[in-house]
This record gives sequence, C-alpha cells and structure tokens, in this order.
Amino acid sequence: MNEPQKAGSSAGESVESTDVAIIGAGPAGLFAMFEAGVIGLNCITIDALDRPGGQCTELYPDKPIYDIPAVPRCTAQELVDRLLEQCEPFGYPIYLGERAETLERAGERWELTTSEGRVINAAAVLIAAGNGAFVPQRVGLPEAERFEGRGLHYAVRQAERFRGRRVLIAGGGDSALDWALALRGIAEQVVLLHRRTAYRAAPATAQAVMAAHEAGQIEIVTGTLDALHESHGVLSGARVKTLQGDRELVFDDLVALFGLVPDLGPLAGWPLRARAGRIPVDTSNYETALPGVFAIGDIALYDNKQKLILSGFHEGSLALRKAYTYARPDKQRTHVHSSYDAALQEKLNAHAHE
Ligand code: FAD
Repeated sequence: MNEPQKAGSSAGESVESTDVAIIGAGPAGLFAMFEAGVIGLNCITIDALDRPGGQCTELYPDKPIYDIPAVPRCTAQELVDRLLEQCEPFGYPIYLGERAETLERAGERWELTTSEGRVINAAAVLIAAGNGAFVPQRVGLPEAERFEGRGLHYAVRQAERFRGRRVLIAGGGDSALDWALALRGIAEQVVLLHRRTAYRAAPATAQAVMAAHEAGQIEIVTGTLDALHESHGVLSGARVKTLQGDRELVFDDLVALFGLVPDLGPLAGWPLRARAGRIPVDTSNYETALPGVFAIGDIALYDNKQKLILSGFHEGSLALRKAYTYARPDKQRTHVHSSYDAALQEKLNAHAHE
C-alpha cells in the first residue's frame, strides 16, 4: 500500500476514478481493500481520522483481541498493522483526515465528495464507517464555539504552529499528555489542565510528564474550565475552577483534547434509510437501499448482526463480489481461491520477498 496520505494531499485537483470507494479505514474497510485487490478491483479509501484502524486504534490499541480466526492473540494495533501489511501489495491509496460529505448518482456510477474537496467517481461505494466519524469532544462552555479557529483547537496538526506561544492543553488522556511533551520545546509555555491528578494515559507517558513538570518544562493545573476570556476578538485566557478556588490563566492557545466521540455526520442525510445510526442491508450481499452502495462492519444493520471484527471481514468480502458486477458489468467473475490464482499469488509473493 502507498503510505496513508494526510488530509488534503492532492485533494480537489480533479475527479479520481476507481472501481470501489471505501469510506472508513477501520478493520472492515482495511480488509475490504485487500479483498478488492484479490478479485481484481481498484479502490480508494478515505477516513476522517488521521491514522487508519478505526476503533481498534482510537479506542483500545493495546487491548488484546482473542477472536480473530487463526490469530490466537494480538493487540488491536497489531491487528491493524497486519491488515495494512496485507493490503500493501496492491498499493491502493488511503486518504486520511477526509470525511465523506456527499454522495450523488453520476450516470450508472457514484460521485463521492470529501471534506477536503476531493471528488471520487466510483462504480460502487462501500460504507465501512463504524459508528460514524469520530469527532472531538467539545469544550462544554456556551462561549467555546465562537473561539474555534480563533485560539481554541481540537487537534494539533502542526506543532510548529505553536512555536513561541503560551499554550494551555486541556485533557488527561494519551493525546493531551503526548502533545504537552511534544510542545514543551516549541511553545514558550505549556500548561496541562486536567480535572484529576491521575491521568488516563500510558504509565510511561504520565511518568514523562511528571518528570517534565519537575524539570520546570510543563506546568500542571488540576481543575476544570469555567469560563473563556477574549481580547481583541481572540481567545486570551480562562477562569479555571480548582480545589483551592478560582484561578485565572492567560494563554495564546487552548488545545482541548478530551477524546473523540462517534458522529454519523453527513452520512445521516444520505437516502440510506438509516435507523439509530445504522444502515439496513440485504444480507446476501450487504447492499443498501441504493444500488451499488454497500454497508459493512459495525454500521450495517440486519437481524442478529454482531458488532465483531470478523463479521465485518465476511460482509466486505460478499459486498465486493456484488460490487464487481457494477464495476465490470460485461465480465463474468469466475470464483477462484487466492491459492489457485497464479497472477495474484505472484503479486503477493513478490511483495512478501521484498
Ligand atoms: P470502525 O472500527 O468504527 O471504523 C470506522 C472508521 O470509519 C473510523 O476510522 C471512522 O473515522 C471512519 N468514518 C466514519 N464515518 C466517516 C466518514 N463520513 N468519512 C470518513 N471516514 C469515516 N471486536 C472483536 O471482534 N473482538 C474484540 O475483542 C473487540 N474488542 C473491543 C473492545 C472495545 C473497547 C471496543 C470499543 C470494541 C471492540 N470490538 C471488538 C468491536 C470492534 O472494534 C468493532 O466491531 C470494529 O472496530 C468495527 O470495525 P469497522 O471497520 O466496522 O468500524
């Protein structure tokens, strides 16, 4: 696989044409990429997050998984790494940091647009969007919204953006602590605000933060945001509630890293008859109410659906076989096991020996 590409890479230049557009690079979407390659279809995958892996990577990377066939035990991140390795021989692109926004009919095909202005024209679309795109948990203060993009950030895209600035990082998970550590040599001042003294981060990261605090590189404040202040139209500080009473903090940027929450977003408006955030499908091929549009993995809705990784693998495999009929309407696909397909084997073996 080509290296997963970050938001906006070459987006918006022209319409990209492919056999299958896959929305979501969680385990279901990643295995579908491989299956597309096995049956000879091209594909382009997009994901709203800035790294592949879906829930596995975002919610439980270090947790062991025991119910993947023929893999007695691996961590969720190891599973994602192996899926990426499995797709690699086909070189299909994964565009990261791009959310699917609109889906429209283009003759017999579909046109998908992303938040970065990319337009993908595809014979079939596989929606492998899990619980929807993860969006950052917002600061729960009424005035917060108007500071978005004016001093209030929910992600750090480029550390350099904070060079020489006074930064308040709010949150107690891995992202908050990792960025506090990463920004300490770049920002003029780094203050870490968390409501408790215990962190929800890897123990080694929490220890590194404590060491940086003792070395005077990171100031730690235990408390919660109570009000945001502005000066000349931009965020300039906050009142923080602590056990010792209210405290005023002055800064240039607030980076709030409270974790991610799933949100179906624009997909909720597509005519897919979604119910409670899930998309009904025909279980013979996982096609939705729209011809050539499939839903697989956690987002698929049918009787007795199990939200398990292995269900998503199976669903993707069947969906792609039907997708083939849209992508190659003039061809009859003969069923061949990967172990009998000489050309495919050559490709997979060549890659294994590189
Ligand atoms: P996801 O993993 O949710 O991935 C969906 C991807 O789609 C996300 O990356 C998201 O950003 C992207 N996306 C969504 N909307 C858009 C959009 N509009 N545009 C672009 N991208 C979008 N299952 C097991 O089988 N075994 C286990 O041991 C196990 N343990 C679990 C432990 C925990 C704590 C949790 C929370 C789940 C566990 N699961 C387990 C369930 C398993 O993680 C899910 O079934 C699996 O992740 C579903 O895969 P998916 O690819 O369908 O969706």
